[in-house]
Amino acid sequence: MISVTEAQQLIIQKAKLLDTFTLNLEDAFGYFLAEDLTAPINLPSFRQSAMDGYAFIHTDKTELKVVGQVQAGDTQIPDLKKGEAIRIFTGAPVPDAADTVVIQEHTTRNGDQLILDKLPNKEANVRPIGEQITAGTYVLKTGHQINEASLGFMAGLGFTKIEVYRKPSVTILTTGNELQKPGTPLKPNHIYESNGIMLKSALGRIGITKVQNLKAQDTLEATKKAVKNALQQSDVLLVSGGISVGDYDFVQEALLSNGVKEHFYKVNQKPGKPLWFGTSEEKSIFGLPGNPASSLTAFYVYVLPHLRSRMGSLLPFLNERKAELTEDITNKIEKTLFLKAGVADTKITAYTGQASSMLNTYALSNALLVVPETETDLKAGDVVNYMDLSF
Ligand code: AMP
Ligand code: MG
Repeated sequence: MISVTEAQQLIIQKAKLLDTFTLNLEDAFGYFLAEDLTAPINLPSFRQSAMDGYAFIHTDKTELKVVGQVQAGDTQIPDLKKGEAIRIFTGAPVPDAADTVVIQEHTTRNGDQLILDKLPNKEANVRPIGEQITAGTYVLKTGHQINEASLGFMAGLGFTKIEVYRKPSVTILTTGNELQKPGTPLKPNHIYESNGIMLKSALGRIGITKVQNLKAQDTLEATKKAVKNALQQSDVLLVSGGISVGDYDFVQEALLSNGVKEHFYKVNQKPGKPLWFGTSEEKSIFGLPGNPASSLTAFYVYVLPHLRSRMGSLLPFLNERKAELTEDITNKIEKTLFLKAGVADTKITAYTGQASSMLNTYALSNALLVVPETETDLKAGDVVNYMDLSF
């Protein structure tokens, strides 16, 4: 059995980058850049007024003569001499001779006479060429996750297409004879299947939408066949259930017999000890515990960073933060604990109801409190690490 740290290292080591493709900027939100971008133009590319006011050549005089005006987008720019002013608006080109813009709130205007009530410093309110970015310099690097700000930034530089890493297609294979699709009254001794929808929406949160749900009964043949299909159809296979040591747990055997190479099986943690990870050429395969809370925790701690890494992220793990415990926690089992928890105002509380079958507490959690395997007694007031589930 390996430690949480070793397992986390392995899922990153074995994460092969997906291939790259060219994408229109408007479709690129959430993707990771697969190229280093340099600015094709200066930003701004001409001397721009930062305010509405008057452009002039800096002087100690407090009275100027208004001789023209320039608006944003104008291509004819009026000239001016010392002692003169040009009415100007935000975003408009500053006349070549002018070096300063006084904001209109600091002036009094009578016809073409302009009184400067407050003299600005030389060069005030003029955005010089390249103030934000100079042409030819790096603007965004490989691994940057494209967000609304970077989209606006790239559009401002004139980009229409960029190179990004592909997102994976995923099959979620749920195993279990007892599983029943919600929508009909429960048959005796059956349960409603819940991991499929949960994992699918968790994938959606990291921008993965090519997801199909398959199911298999608990026989070796059915499991092998379903695994084979899934491996043909997707980049990533998440199998739910059937990975423990029960007589009807066939997932490990089905994966191995389909040529999947095992990288680890079982992690020294609670919940989710029976976690399996392997690869087959370009494909990644996780055998997730069937218990819903274990399955989701394994997703956050291992599947999510592995997939983000394959999609080009340089910071694939969920953010780890610190908060103060509100209650004591003991950990006598020498395993890393991931506890469903709530954080508010820098304080963290592990919820009552940590069993791996329980999603009621998970539904209210915004944090996974991490108790290292070496930590036996935590006291109220101790500062602990948690993984932030608000991502
Ligand atoms: P297993 O890992 O297959 O031994 O399943 C462990 C527990 O999780 C059992 O109680 C299963 O009934 C339950 N379980 C397995 N798969 C699912 C699923 N897809 N949805 C909800 N519960 C499940
Ligand atoms: Mg099962």
